[in-house]
Amino acid sequence: MAIDFDDPRGGYIGEDEERIVAPSLLRSDDAEATLRPRRIDEYIGQERTKENLQVYIKAALMRGEALDHVLLYGPPGLGKTTLANVIAHEMGVSIRVTSGPLLEKAGDLVSLLTNLEDREILFVDEIHRLNANVQEVLYPALEDYRVDIIIGKGPGARILPLPLKRFTLIGATTRAGQIKKPLRDRLGIPILLELYTPEELATIVRRSARILDIPIEDGGAAEIASRSRGTPRVANRILKRVRDFAQAAADGVITREVADMALARLDIDRLGLDITDRRMMESIIRNYGGGPVGLETLAATVGEEAVTLEDVCEPYLMQMGFLTRTPRGRCVTEKAYRHLGLPVVRPETGQLSLEES
Ligand code: ADP
Repeated sequence: MAIDFDDPRGGYIGEDEERIVAPSLLRSDDAEATLRPRRIDEYIGQERTKENLQVYIKAALMRGEALDHVLLYGPPGLGKTTLANVIAHEMGVSIRVTSGPLLEKAGDLVSLLTNLEDREILFVDEIHRLNANVQEVLYPALEDYRVDIIIGKGPGARILPLPLKRFTLIGATTRAGQIKKPLRDRLGIPILLELYTPEELATIVRRSARILDIPIEDGGAAEIASRSRGTPRVANRILKRVRDFAQAAADGVITREVADMALARLDIDRLGLDITDRRMMESIIRNYGGGPVGLETLAATVGEEAVTLEDVCEPYLMQMGFLTRTPRGRCVTEKAYRHLGLPVVRPETGQLSLEES
């Protein structure tokens, strides 16, 4: 990839305009499978989740049964797909992967379910996007390991119950709130994945660098980690971009200085915020006096999709203490004003104060 260091855009040529801190999968993430941990001891972070899962897996193995159904939820790029594969590996079973939008008709799901082996795992990504007909098929399948096939039409139609093998469904979603209660109630092991700490991300970055044979110093890994918005997918992506800068501008080793220079070129600031995050906060401040402002209104002002703001920007901005959600809309905090270098307006007095961050 060609890099032009005099280019004001950061010199990135050849790559399309994909947002580097986007936690969703981009085309440039093609090597992700190589970096995906397979065993539970390679899966970094999410300690409590792992401890509990290990208990459930051990118990299921001792009983020779399928693992109870699982719901994985949390923002994109946090390791839901990875964890589903890890669970399959630890259970010693195979996994079939599909997603909510792919299962358009009830028949699609029926044929998948009837082909599952004993204890096998069915992974349904974006399970909140399953349509109502398909969900209806899922309920008896999850509860009684049965699908009801309707034969014929009209008054003469008959229901033929078809037994299924004892399988495990693992559903993943970024939007637990959109999952209907009957489905949620049938997924016995709900797991919320949380944003990773900088230390955990640094471990992930060092591991990925080892696998990809990228020379990196601890300071470089720490710098990338603290600017990857708590998300392993983003950390791995930044690592690969920073490697390009290290090779073009330095001797190939990612030091803290090289990482810092590269991240500045990529317009990712010290806390991992990119231009969309900053635009979102600036818009709340400049156009709505710091908030509250409704999500749709804000999205229209910023020129982004509401879901991008909600799924991508907000979790991290809230975690960083820059943004709060209130019943009346989104508000920025004083910390956000300071981070952006804007004078803090105190709503109660209307007074301005310029404070140091
Ligand atoms: P999701 O399904 O939540 O969008 P993925 O499971 O696809 O996220 O994870 C994205 C990438 O991040 C994976 O390919 C993997 O390389 C990395 N990753 C995710 N979680 C972990 C983890 N706990 N430890 C190490 N790497 C991880």
